[in-house]
Amino acid sequence: ARDRRFLIAGNWKMNGLLQDGVDLAKAVAAGSDGRKAELLVCPPATLIKPIVDAIGGAAVAVGGQDCHYEDSGAFTGDISPTMLKDLGCGYVILGHSERRAYHGESDAEVKAKAEAAHDAGLVAIICVGETEAQRDANETLTVISTQLYGSVPEAATPDNTVIAYEPVWAIGTGRTATPEQAQDVHDHIRTYGMATFGPDNWDGVRILYGGSMKPGNAGELLSQPDVDGGLIGGASLKADDFLGIADAAD
Ligand code: PEP
Repeated sequence: ARDRRFLIAGNWKMNGLLQDGVDLAKAVAAGSDGRKAELLVCPPATLIKPIVDAIGGAAVAVGGQDCHYEDSGAFTGDISPTMLKDLGCGYVILGHSERRAYHGESDAEVKAKAEAAHDAGLVAIICVGETEAQRDANETLTVISTQLYGSVPEAATPDNTVIAYEPVWAIGTGRTATPEQAQDVHDHIRTYGMATFGPDNWDGVRILYGGSMKPGNAGELLSQPDVDGGLIGGASLKADDFLGIADAAD
């Protein structure tokens, strides 16, 4: 499991004005030297360009939080994967539960976006996760399988795809999945991916955990055999917390 490089990814969501965002990115960049884990920040689209410039040559990748499935055209308000790539992004988060809930994104739409991201040369971070009601009804693994089947392109490889397991009940709530709950679902994701998309492809696919990850709980989550990093919301908005999680991955 440990030949997969940890990815510590910050999802800033709709937070950050120009100066604060640049300062935060600079503070992350200042703590990026010599790490085993790969660092990624995903700021709002308005901040991507200044943050790419502020990070300069430091080892921090930059990603978008969503993209369209077309490269250009009459889609007011949307951003294409080529536009993200053009600004210096290497990644894009897709199918976050907030996009699925507030923008009605379907699995098919997420898959189309992931294919477009791949075509543009971006790594797609495809998010899946169950609601609390689904977990209580013992539907977690079925829900995850359905989301994977519907949202992940058949041609996904470890080089162009990362999966993020984000239980909806743990996002922004302060409630974290236990390491065992996370490992159970991550193991299921890898096993399902291998069976569905091919064993060679899926052994190396990184599976991130997301949901109230903090420096204090990151160590035990990241020590699970199939947890290959974190997608971090709230704690990615403070450089010390974000780098504290990265410390746990090193
Ligand atoms: C997220 O939304 O990707 C997330 C994991 O948020 P938080 O860390 O705040 O729970």
